[in-house]
Amino acid sequence: MLVRKFGGTSMGSRESLFAVAKIIKAYKGKQAVVVSAMSGVTSDLIAATEATLAGKQLLVKDILAKLQEKHIAIIGVTIQDESIQAKVAHYTECVVKSLGGFLKALGEIGELSHRSEDTILAVGERLSAYLLAGILSDQGLPSEQLDFEKALPANLAEKADHDFYLKSEKIFAQRVKKVIARKKVPIITGYFGRVPGGMLPAVGRGYSDFCAALVAAGLKATNLEIWTDVSGIYTADPRKVKKAFVIKTISNEAAAELAHFGAKVLHPQSVHPATRARIPVWIKNTFEPAAYGTKIIPEVKNPERLMTSITCQKGVTIVNIASYRMLLQHGFMAKVFNTFAKYEIPVDVVTTSEVSISLTVSNTKYLEEVKEELRPISKITIIPKKAIVCLVSLGMKNQHGVAGEVFSTLGKAGISVEMISQGASEINITFVVDEAEADKAVMILHAKFFENGYLPKSK
Ligand code: ADP
Ligand code: ASP
Ligand code: MG
Repeated sequence: MLVRKFGGTSMGSRESLFAVAKIIKAYKGKQAVVVSAMSGVTSDLIAATEATLAGKQLLVKDILAKLQEKHIAIIGVTIQDESIQAKVAHYTECVVKSLGGFLKALGEIGELSHRSEDTILAVGERLSAYLLAGILSDQGLPSEQLDFEKALPANLAEKADHDFYLKSEKIFAQRVKKVIARKKVPIITGYFGRVPGGMLPAVGRGYSDFCAALVAAGLKATNLEIWTDVSGIYTADPRKVKKAFVIKTISNEAAAELAHFGAKVLHPQSVHPATRARIPVWIKNTFEPAAYGTKIIPEVKNPERLMTSITCQKGVTIVNIASYRMLLQHGFMAKVFNTFAKYEIPVDVVTTSEVSISLTVSNTKYLEEVKEELRPISKITIIPKKAIVCLVSLGMKNQHGVAGEVFSTLGKAGISVEMISQGASEINITFVVDEAEADKAVMILHAKFFENGYLPKSK
């Protein structure tokens, strides 16, 4: 059994939907397909929710009208059979109409629950999955939309923890098997519910990758393919670094690391269910299906080169917490991290000295509350507009002087570094720079370590 996920970038136009259909039809074995919303749709749904809560009804109407237009227009140019066309158009109109009613009610209540947000965002994947199932049926491949919005019982678990996802995998697999038993290809909505705490807080954007990984693990698939608009995981974001190139094989650990620190190509959590089930994950290009892509496997014995990839995450804020050490010497770190956990603020990079902790966050929503709670024991400084740069390496462990080279290269380019972190596992070197200098830092480090045959000194 093969599980394949097609991202928003593969679902955006007639040409891309036809490319997707061709890839699905070319595979003769059993397959389950997971899809994202058409590109831009999830962001539009978030914008419609915000506009509703801000009382901007005209804007909401406009967003919904465009959403409907976008889907209806594509039906006409991708589906020939008039009855399938009518069926998909009817579904689209009903879903958008019911979304309109839902948003109206939300505007009256004025408060967004996680459950309501789920109902709104699921619309993107419900529409795209129905559309693709229509296109495939029109081209002679029996297929069916499989809507996971309410796939999980509301009382499955209290927290979105390991146990919850294990149970989810099993439920997803059962539902997929039923469709396959009817000799149809299931086209699964990458939006799945009901996740305790809500999809965006618990999983975040790019959740369809994670959905596909859960489906693959539940089905014990032979392979999981993530189809996107690039031919694999590159040594750096190919939109920013022209000389970046594809990494053929990468370990789960390194892939999760670079996804976590900003490589948008893969959702960071998505490798874990696949790793646990020992399923190889492939990143493939919908627009160049013959390209090898990237294979993600549990362990890479002989890495192709010292450095694997460099990523950058902008929009980061440094929080500096200096302890009034006479007041509370022990338990200071615990108090700091418990406070961030209480407000569900993920912390990315951490550095410590005897009297202070510096950390970075991307979500600043409750920072004032955190500041207030920590005020009695510390002095807090907040520094916005920073970026995390992360060099992921599979080959650094047996070398010396690499960190020195990294920072002297940055120093020579006049880039100042504010926080540095390297774990004992030596899989990455992570540091924080001014947001305005981040692209330059990535560029010069890519040139130094990836483009000119850099040879390290062995230990
Ligand atoms: P999809 O809609 O298919 O899920 P995404 O936009 O989420 O696609 O991810 C694909 C994009 O990730 C690519 O277009 C690319 O610009 C970006 N990207 C960022 N860093 C990397 C990297 N290291 N390797 C490959 N792609 C990357
Ligand atoms: N459409 C969703 C998003 O933009 C999910 C996905 O692309 O995986 O976040
Ligand atoms: Mg994605």
